[in-house]
Parts: sequence; structure tokens; C-alpha cells
Amino acid sequence: MKEDLYSIKMRSARNTKHISGAERIILEKDMGLSVQQLVTRALGHSKGKSDFINIKIKNIVKQDIEYINPLDIRTVITNDYFEGRECALKALQKSGLSAETSHLVLNMLKDCHTMRGAILFEINSRERLEADKKRGVRVTNIDWSFNVKQELDKALARANLNNNHVKEAVALASKVCSAPGIIAELCWSDDPDYTAGYVASKDLGYMRITKLKPFGSNNGGRVFCFDSSKASIEKCIEYLQEKITLVNRVPVINNNIWV
Ligand code: AMP
Repeated sequence: MKEDLYSIKMRSARNTKHISGAERIILEKDMGLSVQQLVTRALGHSKGKSDFINIKIKNIVKQDIEYINPLDIRTVITNDYFEGRECALKALQKSGLSAETSHLVLNMLKDCHTMRGAILFEINSRERLEADKKRGVRVTNIDWSFNVKQELDKALARANLNNNHVKEAVALASKVCSAPGIIAELCWSDDPDYTAGYVASKDLGYMRITKLKPFGSNNGGRVFCFDSSKASIEKCIEYLQEKITLVNRVPVINNNIWV
């Protein structure tokens, strides 16, 4: 690849409250279009029109890039969010959390909103490890590799999943699950219009659950479950926040499964 690469980060707020954020790794020729798309997102968000938009663009050293595999995707269709949350609890347990810890993780998201980053939760001590609890840990420098983007769009479109929510979340979860010490992730959006969410782990893959919260609720976020017996917290946070990571394969997408 001869062209220069850039990381582009957008964050926006309204009355100092977080509205939207996005990370991309782009080719120089796509810079103008990407900036335009991110500004449009910040101004047209269902959480409100941003009155502050910050865009940061930085050249990337190609030798620093780590290529990772994606988590495979499956969708579980649930009738309502109660069923969805039951399914999430089972998935967290399959990923290695105890029943009690899984409930704690789920309850944390019920009370969470307007964080820019994720809760980093230590599963043995059951403590939150983020230095700034209001902000959380923000995963950056993650995107799909350029040579899989077209094929990815086609594969997601065949499964009716070709939207920014899914595309960005699968890339992010793939990075999170390859971080040192991370056991699983639980996510549902704080966007009031978006009720789907997921549980992700290395063994489970990306398990998309169609209903994880009531429509109209602005509670949501992400919990990264960390096991300190497996890695140091510094290494984990450095990987999540700094490592430049591109997902270089199209995931396997499984058909919809009813609970
Ligand atoms: P979204 O799926 O974009 O609606 O994000 C839902 C929530 O997940 C946000 O409010 C943040 O708390 C968290 N989040 C979003 N993007 C990231 C990221 N890059 N790293 C860590 N947490 C994030």
C-alpha cells in the first residue's frame, strides 16, 4: 500500500454531554469524505444535535499496524428485552463469568449513560478499573482493513446487517476480545432508537441480540470484563487505547437464531 494512512477520531457533545464518537483508519484520498460523514453524524444524532465537534487526524506508521481476525457474527432474535437480557446472562457465563458476576455486569449497564468510553470491570475483585469513571476506557485506532471492506459490505448486506452500528461494533469487539486479559464484552447502545446489543468473547464470537433494552431508553454503554490473573491492566489499557489494529478478514455470518 503506497498511499499514506491516517487515524481519524471524532467526538461530539451538547451542553458538555457526550453525544457521539467514532474512530476510523483511512487512506489519504478518503479524508474529505470521512470528515464530512463524521460531521453529519454528529449533527444528526438521535441523542441531539451536537454543539461541539472535535476531529483529530494523525498520520500512521504502517509498521505499527497489527492485523487481527474478526469475531464471527450470529444474531439471536428475542421477543423482548427481558428475553434478550436472559440470553446475555447465559452468554456471559459461557464466556467464563460466574452467574453472580454476570448479573453485576448486566446491572452496571442498566444504570450507565453518556460515557465516552467503556467500564473496565475486574471479574475477581469486582472492581471498576478505569482511572476516570465518568469517561471510561475508549478503544481507538481500529477499523476494517481496506482490502476486505467491499467484500464485508456485501456479506453484511446479504444478512441485512450493513449498517454503521454493526460494522463499527464488530471491529471494536474483535479488538477488545484480542486485548490481553479481556474475557468478554457486553454492550447495548445509549442511543434511544437502537435496542439491539451484543455479548462478545473469543469462544462465543459476536453474539448480536436483537432486543437488549426498551425503545426510548438512553441507558447503555459497554462493559469490558478483565481477568487480572491473565494479564496486567497497563498492557490491556495500552493495547485498547493505542495499538493500531486492522481487521483483515470477512467474518462468518450465521443465520438468525430464535431463542
Ligand atoms: P454506541 O454503540 O456508539 O452507541 O456506543 C454506546 C456506548 O459504548 C457509548 O456511549 C460509550 O459508553 C461506549 N463506547 C462507544 N464507542 C466506544 C469505544 N470506541 N471505546 C469504548 N467504549 C465505547
